[in-house]
Amino acid sequence: MGIFEELGVRPYVNAHDTYTVYGGSRMPPEALEAMRQISEHFVDFDELQRRAGEKIAALTRNEAAYVTNGASGAILLATAVCLARGDACRYARLPLTDSRNEAIILCCQHNAYDKAIAAAGAKPVMIGDADETTPEELAGAINENTAAVFYFPNIRYEFASLPLETVIEIAHGKGVPVIVDAAAQLPPVENLWRFTGMGADLAIFSGGKTLCGPQDSGLILGRRALIEDCLRFGAPAHGVCRSSKTSRESIAGLYVALKMYVERDHEAEARALRAMADSMIGRLKAAGLAARIVPWGPVGQSYPRVFAGLPEALRAAEVRDRMRGEGVYIGVSERENEVYISPLNLTEDEADAVIEKLIIHAAMA
Ligand SMILES: *Cc1c(COP(=O)(O)O)cnc(C)c1O
Repeated sequence: MGIFEELGVRPYVNAHDTYTVYGGSRMPPEALEAMRQISEHFVDFDELQRRAGEKIAALTRNEAAYVTNGASGAILLATAVCLARGDACRYARLPLTDSRNEAIILCCQHNAYDKAIAAAGAKPVMIGDADETTPEELAGAINENTAAVFYFPNIRYEFASLPLETVIEIAHGKGVPVIVDAAAQLPPVENLWRFTGMGADLAIFSGGKTLCGPQDSGLILGRRALIEDCLRFGAPAHGVCRSSKTSRESIAGLYVALKMYVERDHEAEARALRAMADSMIGRLKAAGLAARIVPWGPVGQSYPRVFAGLPEALRAAEVRDRMRGEGVYIGVSERENEVYISPLNLTEDEADAVIEKLIIHAAMA
């Protein structure tokens, strides 16, 4: 009996995106094998973190790197490190802080994941509004109580944001670190070094999204001194981050998955995803549906998605629910009454099956 039968759990096809609620992405067998190998022996956890971090830093062209249990755990630890400022006693007291405890967040970038900033003990200070953020507002909000400035790159937030360059220039001018949560910002692969290359002190990535590492893994990349503090204060050390520990298996799995991701032929992969999307468009159009390609992912990643317009009598959410009933997750854009498919997590066979089902359901108006 397989694990699905034994647990009574249904397997789904993920034509939507790398969402945790579906399990994220698919690990390559090599990453699973590394996890199996390391699971059979014991290690010096600090040595493992340090050596994996050195390899990951080299692969991602960063000074230093640290593996966490996810991007959210990475936000928690990065914040804690900024609050502690190298002092073990200050770290041990978190989430209780001294007066230098403010974390600046742009209102227009305020999102579900910035809860981890407050969880570390920081006081979020929101600047700007849904329409605009000015350099003066950022400069004016930074004072002797500011511990860090956070930045969440995302095309959906761009309209009212300040450019990252401006944020870095203003924050660094006042001696305050900038932390970029780029959890889902892959591809392009260059983003692994782009944000820190621009001067961000730390950049955070999820291990279980496009990197195809363990779902409970994540990365902090950037300045050596701050990463040294991650090594000192991060789990399994006691303190506020102990509740977001990772495992030797996840560290090994993420390292191998990341190495494979960086070494992939990214141009060939982009062409393959585009070809898959084009072929889907062809089939949807042949079935009489309005179909178009959007050349970016939900938060601006550089991979294509296929959008299909539905007849007025059929609501997109209904088609999504019917597809889910058949074991397929797809996306919806309710305002445009469109459904969408991302080829990112699909095999050729799955893509064929998804389009076939979509054509049947979209014709059921
Ligand atoms: C997905 C995501 C996270 C959380 O990532 P995990 O690795 O699941 O913890 C944090 N921030 C942003 C912007 C994300 O998209």
